[in-house]
Amino acid sequence: MLRIPLFAGLSLMLASASVYAQSGKIVIAHRGASGYLPEHTLEAKAMAYGMGAHYIEQDLVMTRDDRVIVLHDITLDRTTDVADRFPGRARADGRYYAIDFDLEEIRQLQATEGFRLVNGEREPGFVNRFPLERSDFRVPTFEEEIELIQGLNHSTGRDVGIYPEIKQPEFHRAEGKDISSAVVDVLKNYGYTEKSDKVFLQTFSYPELEIINSEIMPAAGIDIRLIQLLRDTESYPWIFEAEGMRMLAEHADGIGPAHPLVIDPESTPGALHVSALVERAHAAGLDVHPYTFRADPGQLPAYAENFADLLEQHFFTAGVDGLFTDFPDLAVQFLQSR
Ligand code: CA
Repeated sequence: MLRIPLFAGLSLMLASASVYAQSGKIVIAHRGASGYLPEHTLEAKAMAYGMGAHYIEQDLVMTRDDRVIVLHDITLDRTTDVADRFPGRARADGRYYAIDFDLEEIRQLQATEGFRLVNGEREPGFVNRFPLERSDFRVPTFEEEIELIQGLNHSTGRDVGIYPEIKQPEFHRAEGKDISSAVVDVLKNYGYTEKSDKVFLQTFSYPELEIINSEIMPAAGIDIRLIQLLRDTESYPWIFEAEGMRMLAEHADGIGPAHPLVIDPESTPGALHVSALVERAHAAGLDVHPYTFRADPGQLPAYAENFADLLEQHFFTAGVDGLFTDFPDLAVQFLQSR
């Protein structure tokens, strides 16, 4: 008789658990809620958190004074006013590299929605997104962002994870900086040390992934989950061969492929061509988290009727375990509706 209330209590508890716990599928906020606020600002991260994302992404680069900051490009000019504030600090290619600036200089910059220069005029990357050069946004450090997310985990009782990416490790090494060791040190300081911790560390560089797994993490005494990003089949063709995923699994816990590697963009609504990638990755024990799912006008592949359809095709037809999206609210709502 005592068992009945015990089980009733248990099922209530499970029913209130997150979508993640129910389906195992995760929503990763790509550069934060970047569909709504300037990418990689703390505001975009707080919004993503409030929208129910399970993981929030950080792209990481280093400053001249060896600080790790949250920035997508190794250059500052697409998303800040660096060209106005520090004229003359560009390299010969006209770009302003974060690695040529100290953190105190980068703190003076206004961050903005991403733009490109067209005939000397700034044009937004996405016209429907947050307007250029409005309000007051900054480039955060990795530590500041972790403290935001961990602080929200404390105040809300949720357990949202982080999903840092090491940007261009070979560039950093050529500039005399070991960004992977710097990132691993920060992660360790903030308690991300085991595979059960809510972190995935990602990079496009397979050689770097191997170094992180076999040298940098053992030296730091940590062992967290690693994700190999895949932008095409040309960079590491062996990964796409039959045994490739098993070889990759010696150093990685999952893959982050561009979504055209999962579903052929030439597919039609009636004939969806799903590649062997997810099946092979799963057979090797690897998670699959494709990028980047955008609901902006003109971003939908021809084979999807609408954004929910695109999510359905990837989450449930192709069977991916999670995905990167600029619109975490829509993906969370989609999983809840399923
Ligand atoms: Ca990224």
